Amino acid sequence: MAFEGLADRLQKTMQKIRGKGKVTEADVKEMMREVRLALLYADVNLKVVKDFIKKVSERAIGQEVMKSLTPGQQVIKVVKEELTELMGGEQSKIAVSPKPPTVIMMVGLQGAGKTTTSGKLANLLRKNYNRKPLLVAADIYRPAAINQLQTLGKQLTMPVFSLGDQVSPVEIAAKAIEHAKAEHHDYVLIDTAGRLHIDENLMDELKNIKEAVKPDEIFLVVDAMTGQDAVNVATSFNDQLGITGVILTKLDGDTRGGAALSIRAVTGKPIKFVGMGEKMDALEPFHPERMASRILGMGDVLSLIEKAQANVDEEKARELEKKMRSASLTLDDFLEQLSQVRNMGPLDDLIKMLPGANKIKGLNNLKIDEKQIAHVEAIIRSMTKEEKEHPEIINASRRKRIAKGSGRTVPEVNRLLKQFEEMKKMMKQMNNMTKKGKKKGGFK
Ligand code: GDP
Repeated sequence: MAFEGLADRLQKTMQKIRGKGKVTEADVKEMMREVRLALLYADVNLKVVKDFIKKVSERAIGQEVMKSLTPGQQVIKVVKEELTELMGGEQSKIAVSPKPPTVIMMVGLQGAGKTTTSGKLANLLRKNYNRKPLLVAADIYRPAAINQLQTLGKQLTMPVFSLGDQVSPVEIAAKAIEHAKAEHHDYVLIDTAGRLHIDENLMDELKNIKEAVKPDEIFLVVDAMTGQDAVNVATSFNDQLGITGVILTKLDGDTRGGAALSIRAVTGKPIKFVGMGEKMDALEPFHPERMASRILGMGDVLSLIEKAQANVDEEKARELEKKMRSASLTLDDFLEQLSQVRNMGPLDDLIKMLPGANKIKGLNNLKIDEKQIAHVEAIIRSMTKEEKEHPEIINASRRKRIAKGSGRTVPEVNRLLKQFEEMKKMMKQMNNMTKKGKKKGGFK
């Protein structure tokens, strides 16, 4: 996961100061030395590190901390606030043009993830904001680029505007906007050409497109894995073209995090979204405060809740809760629950959003075996309706049949049935405790 080293180092440092009833200047100095090293090691821009340390130090040895009752915790609060500020403070929203369509130019170097991210962003606009985007293939130089976008469009059932590779990108962009107006698209995402390096031709072409279509946003797509290079690329594009925001891709890889922490401070332009994987739903709005919270091991419960809200059917969830309370859960319900959780994304990513999750030893190396879940699903699907509702009827010969039908083994079927039985028992116990507690006026 990204930021692992940085998170580890910062959290160790914070732990030392957390419980302190008195914080001296020497304590702060010592801590700042460690924070400085942690940031430099994470490949954060040198000037950014210096400014950050200066700000935090000033505040940490100031009145607000020294005079407080819990100075150790106050210092941590200062670090978190400044880290949030460094990444842009408030979440930066995507523009909405008062006169649709809103035009977004996607720019960036080859391989950064521009085409993929165009698809992801169109998907996110439709899914989360109910918009009707049009993708535009304006990279006429890379032979496969138009095809790639069209394939993504098909996969997403999202329209892609293309005039082939014999028409100039400026004309393609202009015609695309006319087309979008006629077809009532409210967002136009123009996938422009990339190069291996920044060159004048590329910049001229981008400037011409900008001039012709007057975009509401110019998003620079940069690869987080390239660290300081990503920051340099962002600076160049911003100086020469003027960007409105950055989309940082491949944050799911083991990047040290330097780009995420430096880009805003160096360019003055916010990170708007982050790419967290190759799949079309792996793009997330960037929340500086939540990211700071994740880095400092305070978890990101808000993002977790949002994911749940976006992917879990509320009515079904309520029904499940009722069944759990009455301990009348069937194997079908169990299956339903599994599929809802799976909709939320890879399980190990979810677990990492919990507060304190990165303190659990070995969790960072934990890969929850999604295959295992698929096996459980296969086993349950091989049962008859009656078996799912009354698992107690599943005798030895039924077990054999279920194993065969699901392509699993009998011991696996046994294990699942035993786990399910235990879960039900636990639910009963919990419900009894809750009832007793309520009678005594205890916990809810
Ligand atoms: P372009 O040349 O900038 O258009 O780059 P592409 O969209 O073709 O992406 C280059 C590679 O990066 C592809 O293999 C993508 O699947 C991959 N990629 C893009 N975004 C992400 C991301 O957020 N995470 C990961 N792991 N891979 C990504």
